Amino acid sequence: MKCPKCYRPVDAEAHRCYSCGYSVSVSRARFGGGDQSCLLGKIHDNSHRMRMGERERVMKLISRLEFKFPQLLFCTYLQEVPEGIELSEVGFWLLNHARIDGAGACRPNENAVLILVDPQRKEMGMSLGYRAEALLKEDRMLRLLADARSALIHEEYGKAIEQVFLRVGKDLKKRAARCVACPPSSLSRPSNHRTHRS
Ligand SMILES: [Zn+2]
Repeated sequence: MKCPKCYRPVDAEAHRCYSCGYSVSVSRARFGGGDQSCLLGKIHDNSHRMRMGERERVMKLISRLEFKFPQLLFCTYLQEVPEGIELSEVGFWLLNHARIDGAGACRPNENAVLILVDPQRKEMGMSLGYRAEALLKEDRMLRLLADARSALIHEEYGKAIEQVFLRVGKDLKKRAARCVACPPSSLSRPSNHRTHRS
């Protein structure tokens, strides 16, 4: 597992990052909660940054992905993040504390693929629940985020999110094809989510 603040490795059992001191209690102090009182829709875009039609296309894509991969939860969060807070911290907190629309026993937060966008900073990140993390490689996710950077810079947020989700879907399909011959024992291995930055 990696610390959402400094990205250095941390023991899964550790309550606090040895390098920077970050802990779940820090995220609780910053963002509050712990009782899953925050409800996160599949598309969070309260400031309406997505262009006309983009939201609909992203929603359709999320529905297609969830149909193909019924054990996974796909969602996106567009929000300006206050100074001094990393997108990875927001993703860490949301996956730990938010009630995500559509989440349940078969599709818990641990299986989430969350794309975060800060339109002010022009930054995009991805937070993965620990089971989703076992399916998607970190360096590959960084590449997908970097490839969507052009759309992000041009404020085509829906297009950027769509690009990343489409390629995540392709990667998952390839992974599923490989798993037919060899079931993934890694699905039951505990880990933690991490955030990638473009
Ligand atoms: Zn740290």
